[in-house]
Amino acid sequence: MNETTAQAVTAVKAEPFHNEPHTDFSRAENRDAFAQALADVGSQLGREYPLVIDGKAVSSRKSIVSLNPSHSAQAVGRIASATADHAEQAVGTARRAFTQWRKVEPTHRAEYLELIAAEMRNRRFELCAWMVYECGKPWAEADGDVAEAIDFCMYYAQQMRLLAPPVQCDYPGEENSYFYQPRGVAVIISPWNFPLAILAGMTVAALVAGNTVIMKPAEQSSVIAAKLFEMIRDAGVPDGVVTYLPGAGAEVGPVLVSSPEVDLIAFTGSREVGLSINEQAAHTPPSQNHVKKVIAEMGGKNAIIVDEDADLDEAVQGVVGSAFGFAGQKCSACSRVIVLEPAYDSFLERLAGATESLKVGPAEDPGTTVGPVIDEEAQRRIEDYIAIGKDECRTIVSMDVGSLAGEGYYVGPHVFADVEPDNRLVQHEIFGPVVAVLRAEDLDEAFRIANSTDYALTGGMYSRSPKNLQRARTEMRVGNLYLNRSITGALVQRHPFGGYMMSGIGSKAGGHDYLLQFLIPIAVSENTLRRGFAPPPDSEQE
Ligand code: NAD
Repeated sequence: MNETTAQAVTAVKAEPFHNEPHTDFSRAENRDAFAQALADVGSQLGREYPLVIDGKAVSSRKSIVSLNPSHSAQAVGRIASATADHAEQAVGTARRAFTQWRKVEPTHRAEYLELIAAEMRNRRFELCAWMVYECGKPWAEADGDVAEAIDFCMYYAQQMRLLAPPVQCDYPGEENSYFYQPRGVAVIISPWNFPLAILAGMTVAALVAGNTVIMKPAEQSSVIAAKLFEMIRDAGVPDGVVTYLPGAGAEVGPVLVSSPEVDLIAFTGSREVGLSINEQAAHTPPSQNHVKKVIAEMGGKNAIIVDEDADLDEAVQGVVGSAFGFAGQKCSACSRVIVLEPAYDSFLERLAGATESLKVGPAEDPGTTVGPVIDEEAQRRIEDYIAIGKDECRTIVSMDVGSLAGEGYYVGPHVFADVEPDNRLVQHEIFGPVVAVLRAEDLDEAFRIANSTDYALTGGMYSRSPKNLQRARTEMRVGNLYLNRSITGALVQRHPFGGYMMSGIGSKAGGHDYLLQFLIPIAVSENTLRRGFAPPPDSEQE
């Protein structure tokens, strides 16, 4: 970088970024406020939510009924479900809105994000309560989700301020500048497991970069998405810039993804859907004049290696937290534990004890550590894997859900041992509270097993050996490696998050190069030698 460029970059001052603190639930006032929010939101369940296209509420002949996973007879909301026609309408609106939105100053767009973050802070426990009801998130998990959503708003606002000024790289007789412009219409397709944070993160990144946005949330978390849309609208983002388009993914997804008017798709969800989006988006019909950009964050099959000299107290705690937090429904969750032979038996014994101490219950109960899974389909799928585990492996823990069966979608934590590396429990993403423990003779074998899936998202190792930890850094094939700590709970900026191989396409969410994906870089070079002098303003009129 030459001196002029360096000056241009350092001249930009942005407030330092700080992660939003998590709520301290040891304080009675926080517990009381959370309980009050649950009561307030509890009285608002079952309402109807229309689509919002061009700032107008739009009804649909079809709807989605969002159910409370903890008490499946309870409807959290009835949401209009978009049709293919609505999707086309939404794309047209977003395309028209882009002509103005792209001209809004980046710093002004950043201010919208800061307003959205401020509103999230004001409504923090209310938003948490919606997640408790709609997604079965236990208190602390819901709180972390809101904190992350705030972080995304604040961090991407800061990053846009840093990226906005053109970078000058001048030479005698030549003025060169490098700057970014938005891509156009962005379609955001999100999962239900971080119903606020992931949807907000992808949406505000696209928005602050100057794109217009069509938000297609997961069916199971469409009410929380409606709350996010409310906050975007209340922050003053002009009509049409963001569209709220809930609907069945298989129905509206392909219409949005294949539209020639769409420029970018940011997706987070399963590998299967991510790959199909990538394929569809690559198709360029004659009516399309650009190649679409696809960002896809997909699944994981994450392993923790427990070395023979590991502190087993820490390892057990880290594995339990990583495996069973939010009932194992995190893309970063630990679902494989690879233990070195000398530590195997004592680790297993302690893991069993710690797992059995977990409390399965409804998400609104503050004592619950493992809540329900998202829906009946997920429950059935996870139970099928548990049956495979019971059949083909050694069952170490099989927790029953007792009287909760039938009340909601509960699955008790399960631990299986002596699992073979090619077993389906080791190769497939289960997305539930199921852990496979594998034995490794030495570290070479441990790394081989860890790297033996198609995924590369998170991974970890507990060890006291600096040499072995160093090997993990170079030999574990993951996007996010965690050493001697849990492998979930990535924080914006501190732990930019995302994987590769079948875990994702694109830069890490919450990282310094994430926004670049939503922008097009432009370089302008002007020859200033032969410019002559500009005529005085009034000479033009003569
Ligand atoms: P999913 O793939 O079933 O759904 C995700 C979204 O895609 C939803 O909005 C859905 O309606 C939509 N969709 C479904 N079919 C579609 C189609 N044909 N075209 C376009 N869109 C379609 O995933 P999910 O069950 O909501 O979420 C769980 C998955 O998400 C897991 O695999 C998990 O690992 C992954 N995930 C990954 C990350 C990450 O950062 N890598 C984060 C969270 C979740």
